[in-house]
Amino acid sequence: MKPLNKLKKIVKKIKFYGSAYECSLCLFKANQFLDGGLYKKRKHAKCPICNSLERHRQLFFILKDKADFSGSKSLLHFAPERCLMNVLQKEPLLIYKTSHYDKNVESDYHYDIRAIDANDKTFDYIVCSHVLEHIDDDRLAMKEMRRILKEGGIAFIQVPIWPSEKHATYENFDITDEGDRIIHFGQFDHVRIYGLDVLQRLQQAGFSKVEVIDLCETLDEKAIQKYGLRNFGDSRDITYVCYK
Ligand SMILES: [Zn+2]
Repeated sequence: MKPLNKLKKIVKKIKFYGSAYECSLCLFKANQFLDGGLYKKRKHAKCPICNSLERHRQLFFILKDKADFSGSKSLLHFAPERCLMNVLQKEPLLIYKTSHYDKNVESDYHYDIRAIDANDKTFDYIVCSHVLEHIDDDRLAMKEMRRILKEGGIAFIQVPIWPSEKHATYENFDITDEGDRIIHFGQFDHVRIYGLDVLQRLQQAGFSKVEVIDLCETLDEKAIQKYGLRNFGDSRDITYVCYK
């Protein structure tokens, strides 16, 4: 880390140190979590030190519960978020690989998730958070993730989801203008917004079992607040744990 950035981090750690919150990723104890989100800001969303968001902190709890990092297991992380990457890289026995679609970004691989250039049954785990809403043929991407998983492997998948049980997945490939995509799908580079029926898409991709985890429904209020796990925005954070 450059000396100036190091200094900035120290200043932040002093400014935001407290006891109200704790980041499950960088373990920093904070007096507040910051507003987060690209357009409409969500309250208590972002760790001031590692920039993790609610869904990243949720995902790490779920990973620790469902994945086994004690043997030499392999994990492929699509579009790796730095906050999660920093922690997963430190797992001593985990064979951790990253894939960034953009070839200008440093990464182990630059896979096209619709046609992954890897052999069948290569990885024990896959982490793919907020990627599929950018992908035109997301059904193909789901099948590809299943293909490269070993038997018994698990893909941990998150997508932005509309809040209501009544909303179905909405996509319209005629909408290509960035401004229109913000209006329709919530972000300039999204091609759809998912409803809870994303579960059927994942099941149709051939996973033997898909667990639907809303972490906030499983923890007590004190823990939810402490770790800043609740999404105060207008979408839902659900993690799909997909078993091959
Ligand atoms: Zn953090």
